[in-house]
Amino acid sequence: MQKGKIGVTTDNIFPVIKKFLYSDHEIFLRELVSNAIDASQKIKTLSSVGEFKGELGELNVKVTIDKDKGTLTVSDNGIGMTAEDIDKYINQIAFSGAEEFINKYKDNANAIIGHFGLGFYSAFMVSKKVEIRTLSYKESSKAVSWTCDGSPEFEMTEIEKDSRGTDIILYIDDENKDFLEQSKIDGLLKKYCKFLPVPVISGKVQEWKDGKYVDTDKDNIINATAPLWTKKPADLTDKDYIDFYHELMPGQEDPLFWIHLNVDFPFTLTGILYFPKIHSNFDINRNKIQLYCNQVFVTDSVEGVVPEFLTLLQGVIDSPDIPLNVSRSYLQSDGNVKKISSHITKKVASRLEDISKNSPKEFEEKWNDIKVFIEYGMLTNEKFCESALKFALLENTDNKFYKIEDYKKLIEGNQTDKEGNIVLLYSTDKDAQYSYINAATNKGYDVLYMNGQLDPHIVGLLESKIEKSRLVRVDSDTIDNLIKKEDNKEANISTLERNISTTLFKSQIPAIEKSEFIVAFQALTPSDSPILITQNEFMRRMKEMSAMQPGMNFYGELPDSYNLTLNTEHPIVKKVITNANDAIGNEINPLEAELEEVNKDIAKLNDLKKDNKELGDDDKKKLTDAESKAEEIRNKEKDIISKYADNQATVKQLVDIALLGNGLLKGEALNNFLKRSIELL
Ligand code: ADP
Repeated sequence: MQKGKIGVTTDNIFPVIKKFLYSDHEIFLRELVSNAIDASQKIKTLSSVGEFKGELGELNVKVTIDKDKGTLTVSDNGIGMTAEDIDKYINQIAFSGAEEFINKYKDNANAIIGHFGLGFYSAFMVSKKVEIRTLSYKESSKAVSWTCDGSPEFEMTEIEKDSRGTDIILYIDDENKDFLEQSKIDGLLKKYCKFLPVPVISGKVQEWKDGKYVDTDKDNIINATAPLWTKKPADLTDKDYIDFYHELMPGQEDPLFWIHLNVDFPFTLTGILYFPKIHSNFDINRNKIQLYCNQVFVTDSVEGVVPEFLTLLQGVIDSPDIPLNVSRSYLQSDGNVKKISSHITKKVASRLEDISKNSPKEFEEKWNDIKVFIEYGMLTNEKFCESALKFALLENTDNKFYKIEDYKKLIEGNQTDKEGNIVLLYSTDKDAQYSYINAATNKGYDVLYMNGQLDPHIVGLLESKIEKSRLVRVDSDTIDNLIKKEDNKEANISTLERNISTTLFKSQIPAIEKSEFIVAFQALTPSDSPILITQNEFMRRMKEMSAMQPGMNFYGELPDSYNLTLNTEHPIVKKVITNANDAIGNEINPLEAELEEVNKDIAKLNDLKKDNKELGDDDKKKLTDAESKAEEIRNKEKDIISKYADNQATVKQLVDIALLGNGLLKGEALNNFLKRSIELL
């Protein structure tokens, strides 16, 4: 018998392992099973190259619980170890600066274990004693037992063992008795070993007999040793992919699309990514991509390995080039991992492009389901965006789909303004913006339907990506101004009429919280609406954006600014303007003349203030006097106009109809409108 000290520089590493690795205890099982799988794969390789000439037998890994003895055993019939092997691989854990490192990474058991090659030693996280019983494949080797109770001392003796391979026997300590429960072990094996390449056996298959479950003779095999992603895409059917998806993600609807990744240069990567069917944006779940390293489950949080927008997908990625036992920050800075990330992006994009080319109908049908993934990708990943511009679809208000390039061609002729900008009209709400959409389609314009959650951002993106383009919401201006083809016809209206009408209409707009109205005049055609409320595209977008991102509050605080545009060519408007002029023009006219004089004075005095000059006391007084005079005249005008307006049901009616068309007429104002409408009948 040999006694010795494990080659660690720190006096006693095990208490440290136990203490710091507490939260990740369970990975000991993954480590031991992985070692057993490696040993099995190695013997297979040796056999195939003729270095091992014996009987290979059926390779498998067994996990056995003995409750009476309090042991958990991981057995394999792999290459086994000689006493020298144990000395070399188990006894000499060479490392330096252990404590420092462990303190740094104490929250990340993976990092510690990987760093020191402590895979095997993780057994001590749950054991008071560990025994290795092993027989090497090498001819005439002797079986050995190695035991260690968690102190740096071990014992090694020769033993009787006929069969090739290794048993790792864990004497589970008192705090970890739950690892002696079959259900717990089965659960862990399912988590970490579901797709390992060698059968992993855990207990027996059970059957229901005489009112309880009893073991049968059949081994309970945990894993599918050749999971779908390791197979050739050409050998697989849609059903295979869909079935595999359900196995991975139980309880989900069929996926929309999938992408089988199969790369062997410049790194090795396989995997299958699925576009899940989601019902609402609340459904979006990240962390549904599982990361494997040679079929060993590593993690299901893949940030850093796949680009952020693809973490919305589901599936598996397997790469031996993804370091198994490292911390997340290390993973993210790893060169290989970065390459993998950009490669996956490329793959996903080209697969989507293929589908859009080869099955355009299917792509259209599923567009609304995958749109959120693609738009998110376009907004967050420059490279993906460039590719996606080729296959992303635009939907119009008639539910027709177009590729961006095709859509551009469709509208170019009719929807280019006098500056040569191509104008894409869009609606965010087909009902609320019905009359505007109607006005646009009557002019032969096409209107896009953009009501998605990310569409406000996509609007800006499209503008920057489509050369010389502008996107405007259909209700952001009058139809002629949306796509200005020529200079507007001057509204045929005198200054006096303009001033009277402005105040007249303004006085009839009910107070609406956080809203501001500007009255404008435009000579549309007589058949266009007499009155129209529009909301400036730029201001609305600013507000929308700031609502989405806290911190950009300036625009969010501003009131909504609307234009109330009067169509001076419309007979009713014409009549209202003339009538008002006839009725109160005589009263207003002298006031206007007076106001003009006062305003001239004010302008003169303000001129003196130019270049930051202080006004003399005399001038200061003159200015305040003039300003209050102007105010007084305006108030007089307002009084006259309001009094007149009181009896002008047509004006009230026009204003209310315009408000109603924009969903702005509510509460008491709406009630008044209804009452007035009935009276007019
Ligand atoms: P790693 O697996 O990262 O190399 P471990 O501490 O888990 O680190 O194992 C150290 C070495 O011990 C392995 O590389 C292998 O050579 C040997 N070993 C561990 N378990 C087994 C086993 N079940 N059969 C054969 N060799 C093993």
